[in-house]
Amino acid sequence: MKYGHLAGPGRVALAERPTPSAGPGEVVVSLAACGVCGTDLEKVRGNYRSAGILGHEPVGRVAEVGLGVEGLAPGDRVFVHHHVPCYACDVCARGDYTFCPSYSKSNIDPGGFADAFRVPAENVARGAVLRLDPGVDWDAGALLEPAGCAWTAIRRVGVPANATAFVLGLGPVGLLYARLLRSMGARWVGGSEVSPLRRAAAERGGIDVTVDPRTPGAVKEAVDRATGGQGVDLAVAAVGPPAVARDATGIVRRGGTVNLFGLPEAGSRLDADLQDLYLRGVRLIPSYATTEPDVAEVHRRLVSGGLRISDLVTHRIPLARLEEAFRLAARPDESVKVTVTGPAA
Ligand SMILES: [Zn+2]
Ligand SMILES: [Zn+2]
Repeated sequence: MKYGHLAGPGRVALAERPTPSAGPGEVVVSLAACGVCGTDLEKVRGNYRSAGILGHEPVGRVAEVGLGVEGLAPGDRVFVHHHVPCYACDVCARGDYTFCPSYSKSNIDPGGFADAFRVPAENVARGAVLRLDPGVDWDAGALLEPAGCAWTAIRRVGVPANATAFVLGLGPVGLLYARLLRSMGARWVGGSEVSPLRRAAAERGGIDVTVDPRTPGAVKEAVDRATGGQGVDLAVAAVGPPAVARDATGIVRRGGTVNLFGLPEAGSRLDADLQDLYLRGVRLIPSYATTEPDVAEVHRRLVSGGLRISDLVTHRIPLARLEEAFRLAARPDESVKVTVTGPAA
């Protein structure tokens, strides 16, 4: 079978290997679709401190079930979560599952950009294989992981239902974050984004105001108008550049929250007026990744009809054209979300 891997700095490539088989407790899934994530692009660029496994937003059909696996059968449509917490350590006991020391040690083999992949026994045992409702299509399924990340962040920062919020950077995760805020009853949601295509996707999802951050003063003006000059309850730095996090600190109200949500480059520094943050009581809360309960909550919201996200997938590229998928995903003016499709699509 074919699978995608890092082939040196700045390059992804396809290679051949035997189709995996399911050992005891394991499951093999035939790929339907896997989203290309911003973190995949950063891994290819060499900016991410992590193992080089690509593709962590996969959906597909169960192809083989190992000895002792219950509740799953060949043909089932599933989403698979690549990392799982241990649910047993001190970090997990406090509910900080994605910061569990063993969280990022588990992974699917050989990654989500593959004709088929093996799900390790610990992932299966800890609920990482989620059966999709028939009403949830492959596009929405491939967005479950990034949407789960947004839901984990929303829970972590403690957003009240009638909040005002501004999302800086309306890439796929920023858009999902904004739509989740909308679906949970936020009073006002604004966002900034350079790409007109992505601003249009935000407006289609009911986001109140979108602005181009390159227009001087536009973000501050939009926030001031919506909040009577008070600032928003929550500003989300949905992309990694430190200037975005700094700008986020400038538009929250007294006692408001800045959520560091987008992946910053390794070694980047926050250049903000610390006394200003201190005197205004601004909370800085990072949120990384997601876990099964939050993905399951997003899935419930899709099934109940309160949340629509499938339209964010603008391109479906077959695995054989993986490099093209990565090129497209790196062009915000041409794509919102790009998925790589496999034999089960
Ligand atoms: Zn992702
Ligand atoms: Zn743990």
